[in-house]
Amino acid sequence: MNFRRTLSCILIALAAFSLFAQGSSETASMISASVENASPKYVFMFIGDGMSSPQTNSAQVYNGNNVSGAVELEELTFTQFPVVGVQYTQDSTSFCPDSASTATSLSSGFKTHSGVIGMGVDKVTAGETIAEKVKEQLGWKVGIISSVTLNHATPAAYYAHIASRNDYFEIGQQMAESGFDYFAGGSLLENDNDQLYRILEDAGYTVTNDRDTILSLNSDSGKVYAVSPELQDDGAMKYSLDMDEDDITLAQFVKKGIDVLYNETGFFLMCESGKIDWAGHANDAVANINDTLALDEAVQVALDFAFQHPNETLIIVTGDHETGGMTIGYAATGYNTAFDILKAQKMSFVAFDELIAAEKAAGTLTFDRLMDLVEENFGLTAPGTENAVPALVMNEYEYAKLQKAYEDDASGNTDGYEESLLYGGYNPISVTLTHIINNKAGIGWTSYAHTGLPVPVYAYGEGAEAFFGSYDNTEVAHKLFDLCNVQ
Ligand SMILES: [Zn+2]
Repeated sequence: MNFRRTLSCILIALAAFSLFAQGSSETASMISASVENASPKYVFMFIGDGMSSPQTNSAQVYNGNNVSGAVELEELTFTQFPVVGVQYTQDSTSFCPDSASTATSLSSGFKTHSGVIGMGVDKVTAGETIAEKVKEQLGWKVGIISSVTLNHATPAAYYAHIASRNDYFEIGQQMAESGFDYFAGGSLLENDNDQLYRILEDAGYTVTNDRDTILSLNSDSGKVYAVSPELQDDGAMKYSLDMDEDDITLAQFVKKGIDVLYNETGFFLMCESGKIDWAGHANDAVANINDTLALDEAVQVALDFAFQHPNETLIIVTGDHETGGMTIGYAATGYNTAFDILKAQKMSFVAFDELIAAEKAAGTLTFDRLMDLVEENFGLTAPGTENAVPALVMNEYEYAKLQKAYEDDASGNTDGYEESLLYGGYNPISVTLTHIINNKAGIGWTSYAHTGLPVPVYAYGEGAEAFFGSYDNTEVAHKLFDLCNVQ
């Protein structure tokens, strides 16, 4: 028994002891023994990028009941997991870390600088990820899913080792060299003339974005990269809020992942919901919440698998850091919230940006025309509008903010100090609209970037008890190394 293992057993025992304050030390030793003897062979790692307690709690409230006089949460699947812990997310140089360093800590168990993937603070020494270890040492199959591009920081932190997260072409080459069995979700950045797809095909991968082909993948499909048939311009999957029946959801990609990876020896499947983070940066709570719910749907697929494979399956759900400084509670609404009004928002800020761009291109974007689009897609109306939902009628302050955003967008006045605080580099009109509807619902934002909020860890299944307590994000990887018995 090595030192780390001994320490983690003690910590687990302590956590268990405090959890069962009225129980006996028997309970504590039962838990540490169950961790010691655990040997999961099907491991799911779900990462909500930018997801901490405010994001999961907002999704619970959104799906629950929040009209006047009625307050009820609806649990998510993963918030009902029996084991909950907390991980601290700071990296080697910042309490507001990025996804490269935090995902490296989660996958490989050490700290590094923001922007660095799979290498230490010297930016030279490469580590080894849980995915690489179980593949090499145990012969498990490995799958990596992301709703954003597959050579983006979080998925890359499971297969790549590189000093800069922005070297997308090199990261794509390392993806091909990984030998992992299943990649799925978004496409690739810096994939000029599909060159990276050809490199992947030369390495033996079937690359497909055909919906029927993807939905018929199975354990005989060989190494595969399943690209969503419906992508946004940036190469990511669409926001869950903007999807239609032609889209393949994150949950469907997990289901296919299981079909491709399932074997008697074992598999490791990492699935990232990456746009919780992007919606957090843009301060769009409705897009944020819907992508958290899409992650939860994907977790349910893993849980169904776990029910069929008890004592062999471990599911971890966590975030890499919080994004946006999202909070339930806003200065103008006091102790009240009204999440029911969020249902009036019909599309993400990105889809609304596209509407505005189309109107501008056609030369038809007047303020009156904008107000029509606002009412249609956000439910918000001008002050004094009759027969409107009262909670969605803008007050004079909010209306003036929207007028300013319209004018600033038209004149390009977006770089001043005030404007940088108001818009954070986003389209002035859509970010102002999401602020207005979020604030009316009782949601506040403090940032357009990442924050230092600790992140919950939810665990279910074989060895889940190892994730009780509070610990550094690097410990998530070490707990997995110990549970999977890899060096
Ligand atoms: Zn981010």
